[in-house]
Amino acid sequence: MTEEIKEGSIVVLKKGHPCGENKWEIVRFGTICKIKCLGCDRIVIIDRVDLKKRIKKVLQ
Ligand SMILES: [Zn+2]
Repeated sequence: MTEEIKEGSIVVLKKGHPCGENKWEIVRFGTICKIKCLGCDRIVIIDRVDLKKRIKKVLQ
């Protein structure tokens, strides 16, 4: 994963959220990251290393 990820980026994760959406907005990008599901607006807190492993594609 070499694409630039920053706050506000929209990413596609390998595994979607139970609501059916797999696009997420990066709300906070630090050692611990916060991502928001674009389908249901739910915020998930995730370790940056884990997040990078789960990203399939960076959209913007
Ligand atoms: Zn969702």
